[in-house]
Amino acid sequence: MDDQNAAVKEVLNNNDAAAVAEIQKYLEKQKNIPLNIAITGESGAGKSTFVNAFRGIKVGEEGAALTGVVETTSEVTPYPHPNYPKLTLWDLPGIGTTKFPADKYLKLVGFEMFDFFIIISADRFRENDVKLAKEIQRMKKKFYFVRSKIDNDIQADRRKRDFSEERTLTKIREYCVQGLWKEGFEDPQVFLVSSFELYLYDFSLLHETLERDLPAHKRDALLFAMPNISLKIINKKKEAFQSKIKYYAALSAVGAAVPVPGLSAAVDLSLIVKVVTDYAAGFELDKSSLERLAHKAGLRYTDLSAVIKSELASVQITKELIMKVLISLAGPVTSMAAEEVSRWIPVIGTITAMGLSFVTTYKVLNYFLNELADDSVMVFEKALALMPSP
Ligand code: GDP
Repeated sequence: MDDQNAAVKEVLNNNDAAAVAEIQKYLEKQKNIPLNIAITGESGAGKSTFVNAFRGIKVGEEGAALTGVVETTSEVTPYPHPNYPKLTLWDLPGIGTTKFPADKYLKLVGFEMFDFFIIISADRFRENDVKLAKEIQRMKKKFYFVRSKIDNDIQADRRKRDFSEERTLTKIREYCVQGLWKEGFEDPQVFLVSSFELYLYDFSLLHETLERDLPAHKRDALLFAMPNISLKIINKKKEAFQSKIKYYAALSAVGAAVPVPGLSAAVDLSLIVKVVTDYAAGFELDKSSLERLAHKAGLRYTDLSAVIKSELASVQITKELIMKVLISLAGPVTSMAAEEVSRWIPVIGTITAMGLSFVTTYKVLNYFLNELADDSVMVFEKALALMPSP
């Protein structure tokens, strides 16, 4: 049993203040893990577009990186994620534009702070990209080659009589990889990406690779900030949220719990508000995320949001709203079957008021999580069906 699990037990059995503080500290720390991603490549490679797409922000929107202007990036510019400001993408100037050798360049941009580098090119990787990658490697940092604008290549090849998407992708990949071999990279991996359609090609693979390479404690920070480009991502987010429910349930049990008509035990409403607001943001069911997605899919906002069942999506989540929903659910969803309570007996000891509050909050949060995850899937499927394919 890890420290946090032991703390849950301590909280529920002895209402131990130190254990409460430990859980609070753990959850707070999880939320504040910084992740700094450096995006570099020559001017016009598609850095700013990638930065915007990753953060789900449209060109021209507040906070968007400027695109398509010759040399728009002349300095290191931070672009925090709108919902997860601890995750920042840094748009770095192309090394060729700075006239610095790779080692000086890395010092100049402050390489130590970056968790990893993404080197973008719209063509093969050139001398400067290679020099930089080698220097990043020497500094014991990770880098990933991204070949951008793949939608353009597919479009161009589509006109050919014997067009096959797979063949076009293989051709680009081999071209890039062979270029890197020649430069002495033994086993280079190149991710083929279209920033206009992150759900296609290798962006998911890039995420999986980054996830694997990151230290375990940073993985969720990346996951939550990932756009919902696949059902797999939505499911992973759900699992990650799920794994934290017991800690929140323990805090609710010792927090300012209020009785809710129809619930078997009192719950801490403000805590539930905070957690469910996180769910809505993670599943991109907050109003601005939905508006952006509707726009991208060419749908009216109301048509997209029509597939949503939960009352908690696309609205400001308040205590009153949670209370209202809980009252309407009381009974089948929130009452506890004896076997459910007994499942927790090893953790909560005897069934005290606190134990009941723990189990009730646990059930309530699970319910909201399932609802919002299901809605996220519905929204994803509705929007994806209408997304352009090249
Ligand atoms: P930067 O100078 O590296 O920041 O490059 P930008 O992001 O400004 O992109 C340069 C141009 O390429 C702009 O006109 C973008 O719209 C276009 N572009 C960038 N990424 C993509 C992509 O994935 N697909 C297509 N078709 N165009 C892209």
